[in-house]
Amino acid sequence: MSIYISGIGVSKGITIGDAFVIAREQIEASHITLAADEINDEIKRFKVALKQANKQLRDFKTKISKTTANDILAFIDTHLLMLEDPAFDESTIANIKEFSCNAEWALQMQSERLVQAFNEMEDPYLRTRKDDVLHVVKRIQAVLTGIEESNDGHLYKGKIIVADDLTPADTIMMQHQKVAGFITEYGGPLSHTAILARNLGIPAIVGLHHARQLIHHHDKLVIDGFNGTAINSPDRKSLKYYRSVQRDETAKRNLLSTLSGKPAITLDHNPITLHGNIDRPDDIRIIKKYDDTGIGLYRTEMLFIELNQWPDQKTHFQTYKRAIKKLNGKLLTIRTMDLGADKEIQDTIDHGPMAHNPAMGLRAIRRCLKEPQDFMPQLLAILRASAFGPVRIMIPMLTNLSEVDQVLLLIEEAKLTLRKRKINFDENIPVGAMIEVPAAALSVDAFAKKLDFLSIGTNDLIQYTLAIDRIDDEVNYLFNPLHPAVLKLIQLVIDAGKKANIPVSMCGEMASDTQYTRLLLGMGLDYFSVQANALLEIKHIIVNSTLSNLKTEVQNIMNIDDENEIKERVQHLVNLL
Ligand code: PEP
Ligand code: MG
Repeated sequence: MSIYISGIGVSKGITIGDAFVIAREQIEASHITLAADEINDEIKRFKVALKQANKQLRDFKTKISKTTANDILAFIDTHLLMLEDPAFDESTIANIKEFSCNAEWALQMQSERLVQAFNEMEDPYLRTRKDDVLHVVKRIQAVLTGIEESNDGHLYKGKIIVADDLTPADTIMMQHQKVAGFITEYGGPLSHTAILARNLGIPAIVGLHHARQLIHHHDKLVIDGFNGTAINSPDRKSLKYYRSVQRDETAKRNLLSTLSGKPAITLDHNPITLHGNIDRPDDIRIIKKYDDTGIGLYRTEMLFIELNQWPDQKTHFQTYKRAIKKLNGKLLTIRTMDLGADKEIQDTIDHGPMAHNPAMGLRAIRRCLKEPQDFMPQLLAILRASAFGPVRIMIPMLTNLSEVDQVLLLIEEAKLTLRKRKINFDENIPVGAMIEVPAAALSVDAFAKKLDFLSIGTNDLIQYTLAIDRIDDEVNYLFNPLHPAVLKLIQLVIDAGKKANIPVSMCGEMASDTQYTRLLLGMGLDYFSVQANALLEIKHIIVNSTLSNLKTEVQNIMNIDDENEIKERVQHLVNLL
């Protein structure tokens, strides 16, 4: 019997596949006492599992090595070395013999010992290596317990992941393994995991409570990412229906692809800039699949998350240079790191102070200004990279002018260092602010006087204006980009840019949502930075819109207080197409 379950659709698309149910916690090891004559066979079983885990990693490394930075490949090498280390191999075998126990239990004992040793280390870098131990143990345990079915290292390939929650790092790893989609029990549409799924084009549903009770390993599933429905054990009729939706989607995409490479100009000849959002240089490939554009938002914190530590200057530099090369002269807007809230590295989670409201805590530029010596390598690297192609520096979460001044001073200091060392960089590199805190939007004229560009981060601007945690699905019903307060703040920023004659873009998810394109055009927005798979849909609306008509309609909408009426009028604009 088909079971329909509802959550929040956060990444459009239909996918059909088998469920792979996971928990982020460690796989629980069971304890079995062995008879003396079973010990040798158990040791053999452990050795076979070690070999298989080793083979998985080597295969995985070969498959991703063409597209992945050396630093990240080095982490796989570390895991391979650990698998061969006597700390895993001999000590676990010694445990099997000494305690007459199964390999899973013996490995668990050894893992706990190692984790404790790492936890006691003074050096914060070495402490983070504990995560590598846990990853390696998890991999061997998966093989031992038979959760691993394929021996080609593609545990999740083609599967629909069902989990309590996923971190941005999990999502990136799953993309490497080509998952077909994912469902999580928690999380909101603006969580960074949801944004990553959209950027990667993986259909996804979040906030599907009790998913892991309703869906079991290997169940056949359909994910409808358009309206957030998952269908467990779909019958023939529903499968037929969803396959036809998939076909329609492909046909629509093929039609849109004719817009690729064409300029985004309205019917009354107003050019609009349309750029893409990326999380890693490799995502430029996904952008190029749709259109050959510049990048209006490169979220660099994903580099920190992938490495699980603050990168050094060289790593920053090589990563940015790689992105610039891939862009072939198109603009790259590098946003300085925005760690905090739902994007964290393990060491901070383990050892940092627990913030009660991390979204309002020491996040993004606040953290960088508190530790300028840690921020400086990123600034130096961005400047050095600017010698290889057009680059802009974008600062997240600015709240007041004193922060703007401090950032500008630090950038000057970085420039001075490079001049002294006779290292090339773009002397006129534009520096801009994300406007995503209501206080910044309300005082945006002053920001505009000091900066070269502005970009509206609606994900946070809406979160802070409406006081709703963007990752909490319980308050998702309050999320509304059309709240008059939000629209007024957006309008302030667009107008301030025009007054100061500096570009204003929007890089939050609102820019990628076709429901709002005409409203934003009518408000005067002429620069959209969007997810890869929204590029052509948004362009389709732009090239079929008459700006002068929209301006008149939108001026009227801006005077309405009632949210439902605003929604109706905005829907009417969409229907004009
Ligand atoms: C935003 O807040 O709108 C934004 C683009 O930044 P992030 O989603 O990374 O916080
Ligand atoms: Mg933001």
